[in-house]
Amino acid sequence: MSRIATIEAFALEARFADYFGGTQHVPPAFSQPAAHFRALPRLGQASTLVRVRDTEGHEGWGESWGLPLPQASALLVEKLLAPVLKGAATEPVDACAELLWTCARQYGHDKGFLPEAISGIELALWDLAGRRAGKPVAQMLNPQARERIACYASPVPFLDRPEQSAAAARAFAEQGHRGVKLKVGRGVETDRTHAAAVRAALGPQAELMLDANGAYGVESALQLARAVEPLRIAWLEEPVAPDDLDALVRVKRNSPVPLAAGEHEFCPAGLRALVERGAVDVLTPNVSRCGGIGAVRSAAACAREHGVRLALHGVGAGITLAASLHVLAALPVEGLFEANRFLNPLRESLTQPVLSARDGAFDLPAGPGWGVTPHPEALRRFAVSA
Ligand SMILES: [Mg+2]
Repeated sequence: MSRIATIEAFALEARFADYFGGTQHVPPAFSQPAAHFRALPRLGQASTLVRVRDTEGHEGWGESWGLPLPQASALLVEKLLAPVLKGAATEPVDACAELLWTCARQYGHDKGFLPEAISGIELALWDLAGRRAGKPVAQMLNPQARERIACYASPVPFLDRPEQSAAAARAFAEQGHRGVKLKVGRGVETDRTHAAAVRAALGPQAELMLDANGAYGVESALQLARAVEPLRIAWLEEPVAPDDLDALVRVKRNSPVPLAAGEHEFCPAGLRALVERGAVDVLTPNVSRCGGIGAVRSAAACAREHGVRLALHGVGAGITLAASLHVLAALPVEGLFEANRFLNPLRESLTQPVLSARDGAFDLPAGPGWGVTPHPEALRRFAVSA
């Protein structure tokens, strides 16, 4: 029987300052692309990759979200969680994940770096299982897995003028995307003006999503929802702070446009609560934050039962991207993936092959496991020490 031999973490970072020739040259659209970067500007991209090796010499790769401090998840993976699984059978993966949750419950398990660390290990175990079986993970989850996974492009960040937002949205459409997400949270009238420009640029058919990243209170969120209703909004995402479920429910009861949330829920119970409280029309978990494949599948089942749409959050590096496509391909009801196009060298050059959308959808990566592998040289290049 295959048993877990080692679990290692790789804290990785790509700083925007290195791409723009110094911190002072990073454009505001990168350092503050959305409302939630007002407290701590966006400095770059980060990720914590996880490698599990078994006693028979196989390995698998996972990813913990990592932003903004990839060393935090790395420490939790190696020092707290790896000892829990050392010597355990590599499958079933759900049994390993349950051991990790059992450990984590002692330490405040349901938000932040700890569930992200669990997610990275869980994903690595799925990749390992796929590689051992010689099958794509999607095939292991569902022999009838689909080959194409629908997506939308994100984000149109905070840009100064509505014409600039329109041009950014048009560029996404010209790349074949059929849906585009605009960042909002700059006041109702500014948001409405930019959204109107984007809708005009996209035409009536494309899906237009808005993401406020928790910028508003209940009343101002409803003002925004009413102001943009004529623009046929597919959903308004995180209109209020993600830790205030009651406020989100109040917005939902009165909003004329659909609501989305879920990227700040870190375990199956939190995602279930969003659905069961009637807080969302669209659930948006991130596979590298919420517990991995098992957690997304359970959230998807709950969403389906309540008629809620599933659209996986797409921020992350190459393993998150591939794992998201595999789990979406295997779900019984078609979901949607956020094709994040924000500058991210960890998504574009850390893993091979690089996955890109074509005509509004991704092809499921071929090959065993995720079908993508980190490049050893890139692991060294992006490594960040504690
Ligand atoms: Mg979002």
